[in-house]
Amino acid sequence: MYQIFRYLSIRAMLPLLIPLFFWGCAQPERPPNILFIFSDDHAYQAISAYGSRIMQTPNIDRLADEGMLFTRCYVTNSICAPSRAVILTGKYSHLNGVPTNVETFDGSQQTFPKLLQQAGYETALVGKWHLKSLPEGFNYSEVLPGQGVYYNPGMTKNGEPTKHTGYTTDIITDLAIEWLEDIRDSQKPFLLMLQQKAPHRPWDPGPKYLNLFDDVTIPEPPTLFDDYSGRGTQVKIQEITILRSLKDRDMKLSPPDNLTEHQQAQWNAAYREKNETFQRENPQGDALLRWKYQRYIKDYLRCVASLDENIGRVLDYLDEAGLAGNTVVVYVSDQGFYLGEHGWYDKRFMHEESLRTPLVVRWPGVIKPGSVNSDIVSNLDFAQTILDIAGAPLPSSMQGVSLVPVLKGNTPDDWRTSHYYHYYQYKSYHTITRHEGVTNGRYKLINYYDLQEWELYDLEQDPREMRNVYQHPANAAIVGDLKRELQRLRNQYNLPPIEPLEKQE
Ligand code: CA
Repeated sequence: MYQIFRYLSIRAMLPLLIPLFFWGCAQPERPPNILFIFSDDHAYQAISAYGSRIMQTPNIDRLADEGMLFTRCYVTNSICAPSRAVILTGKYSHLNGVPTNVETFDGSQQTFPKLLQQAGYETALVGKWHLKSLPEGFNYSEVLPGQGVYYNPGMTKNGEPTKHTGYTTDIITDLAIEWLEDIRDSQKPFLLMLQQKAPHRPWDPGPKYLNLFDDVTIPEPPTLFDDYSGRGTQVKIQEITILRSLKDRDMKLSPPDNLTEHQQAQWNAAYREKNETFQRENPQGDALLRWKYQRYIKDYLRCVASLDENIGRVLDYLDEAGLAGNTVVVYVSDQGFYLGEHGWYDKRFMHEESLRTPLVVRWPGVIKPGSVNSDIVSNLDFAQTILDIAGAPLPSSMQGVSLVPVLKGNTPDDWRTSHYYHYYQYKSYHTITRHEGVTNGRYKLINYYDLQEWELYDLEQDPREMRNVYQHPANAAIVGDLKRELQRLRNQYNLPPIEPLEKQE
């Protein structure tokens, strides 16, 4: 009887005893590896996990299925090099020294990869760097010079020139897998920043996808033929239209002679009157814009096809190497991009297409698979988030907020409800003046201060941002609230006073 009693007792206690046994044997838990997959100009409109009408991205979707997809990841300054500097430093452009693509990044400043090294991580960077100075804070790096090229890239490996033959998106992935397999110190947790050039202009597809979409017509966005009425000066003076700003190099072909810009003017006149009727009666629309849109979007999507395929390659490698279970994978672009909305390519503006960047995070055992998050998050948050994931200290000088509670599904009650934006690169051929703004996800207030014009958009009533309602008397209180919020954020982030343009160097 005693034997039976003792047997039953031990059985009953086993669920308690087994964890105690393993706890007694456990080593300090190894921090997770971090794979930061970064692309350049990849719009959420070209990701099927974001509901794309025009593109399938099964490998990014796989990350979303197994992780968390963010629907409101706003950048602080929608342009390439500045976004990179924000991500590395966790600081707004006015403090990290890279407000435009012109400046050289001061590599001596604090960055999250340096802090991860101090925390015992092995760090590597392969691919596009685009900050002019050489990378610092990495045990290993092999980077494209400047913007890099899509084929047969020269690169710089730990400061020394290298040369590769092939398609750059594939090559960068090869280098990443090689580092994971053969080069890194496997005794340490790693940070790998895998940074693609794709799908940045001039959108040269890889050999495998040259003929993808040859036999189809890609759907046009509803605002492709935007005539810019209902808004102020800036949207009218920009030079990012597919029709006029994209060149033969972008098209890889000269337009046929029978397509003229004159048709665009006709189309705009009719579109102002509004119409679906006109579209039905004039199915040819503006032939030149339609032709250029198809040329542009097909090459863009072909570049995305290679990008997505290569994300799949590295995810497969993590699985095969047994690394997937303890590796946080982040997929993000440096900003959003216009895929024909408003007739545009490019970014820079504070409209949703360029302000919002795709962000997907997979963290096995921590993030609930298939999560979708609509909190306001930012590329300003990435540095502190990655340090927090690694268990490293978070410097008070960084200006973002760790996303770790959000990733765990526990967004704090006092999470931010607004976002501050500031674009600086005016003296460039795209003619987009400096501007700042604030959005709370429902409304967006933009200050084109060089033009002394304000715009207000109601994102619920007007999600495509076609009507500036700043002057509408009914919105006076909303404008007042947003101006106060703009000033509060300027104070919070230590913005200097805005200098007149002529005082800029
Ligand atoms: Ca970019």
